[in-house]
Amino acid sequence: MTDAAAAYEELKAQGLKLDLTRGKPSAEQLDLAAPLLDLPGAGNHKAADGTDTRNYGGGQGLPELREIFAPFLQVPAGQLIAGNNGSLELMHDTLVNALLNALPGAPTRWVDAGRVAFLAPVPGYDRHYGVCERLGIDLVTVPMTADGPDMDEVERLVADDPSIKGIWCVPKYSNPDGAVYSDETVRRLAAMPTAAPDFRIMWDNAYAVHHLTTDEIEVADVLALAAEAGNPDRPFVFGSTSKITLAGAGVAFFGASQANVDWWLKLASKRTIGPDKVNQLRHALFLEDGEGLRAHMAAHRELIAPKFAMVERLLAESFSDTPGVTWTHPKGGYFVNLVVPDGLASEVVRLAKEAGIALTPAGATHPYGKDPQDAIIRLAPTLPPLDEIENAMAGVVVCLKLALARR
Ligand code: PMP
Repeated sequence: MTDAAAAYEELKAQGLKLDLTRGKPSAEQLDLAAPLLDLPGAGNHKAADGTDTRNYGGGQGLPELREIFAPFLQVPAGQLIAGNNGSLELMHDTLVNALLNALPGAPTRWVDAGRVAFLAPVPGYDRHYGVCERLGIDLVTVPMTADGPDMDEVERLVADDPSIKGIWCVPKYSNPDGAVYSDETVRRLAAMPTAAPDFRIMWDNAYAVHHLTTDEIEVADVLALAAEAGNPDRPFVFGSTSKITLAGAGVAFFGASQANVDWWLKLASKRTIGPDKVNQLRHALFLEDGEGLRAHMAAHRELIAPKFAMVERLLAESFSDTPGVTWTHPKGGYFVNLVVPDGLASEVVRLAKEAGIALTPAGATHPYGKDPQDAIIRLAPTLPPLDEIENAMAGVVVCLKLALARR
């Protein structure tokens, strides 16, 4: 038996049960927001303007919470909506709304437009693809670069084809490759000519404040750049506190031009008599202001940066000089993207599974679950404790070595 095969047999004999699949906060991270569970406290249900948060109404969400998040999401507070607990539902509903009710500037609603397609930078976030797959919106892949989507390709595709109605973007610490969009990328997205007059950028700023280093990277202001370029309605901005406070009980945000916000609020008023303002109030009381938010994120960083460092150390120890094996060194966000030689990703995931280590399925970073190169493995190191990350990554190293040896 080769060394790699023997190491793998030893790994299997350990009977591990470890999981690096999803970008979830750990229990310790959730504990940072423990005071939320006691807020706002009995008798303390009034918003700053005197609104009784317990009652119906207030469709746009509490102004004091919108004020806290506005600068971080780069949306004026008056154009920001605070909703319920997940931004994914806002993205989903936005596309459903666009299908059923003509967007500002749209010649028709999208269900009457024939084919509707979105650009999907790859690798990307599987749930974005899932929304489109469910709604019958075709996905057209474009490659990611270190600066964001390949803009030559994006500009070429949107220039001629009116059925391309949008693009998915995670502009900061992108899922999964940690890319940060350059100012030039943002400017080109905001200004590029599109054959579709109702083209939209799904600007999912899920990791806006999720820095892994003290370098708090900022991206260019897409709403301002789009307005300057004469395309004020192009960006739809999303964000949430899922990985700031409580992943299952946070607050999500939607921001856009006034015309888009009016469109959204009118439709939302048919769906709900108002969001959970008690939760919004407890968030505003807990975070207090922008500085409070920053300090809270620094506490997250202290918990998770060592986990990312562990992933980096174990990969570097074994694969620094291995041709075809590279990985990202993210400065924020929730993922490390491991790139292996073509055709090996699903084999590594399979070997890991047999050894009791669950990895995100190979292909999940691509539309329809198919990575044509079968080369990308998304690692999500935030949830397990540090010792489990160490064991899981040591196992991944063994699996990758075996897959490389067997090639
Ligand atoms: N967008 C991205 C890029 C994500 O990685 C995630 C969570 N993994 C989400 C959105 C989900 O956000 P929410 O909890 O606000 O629905």
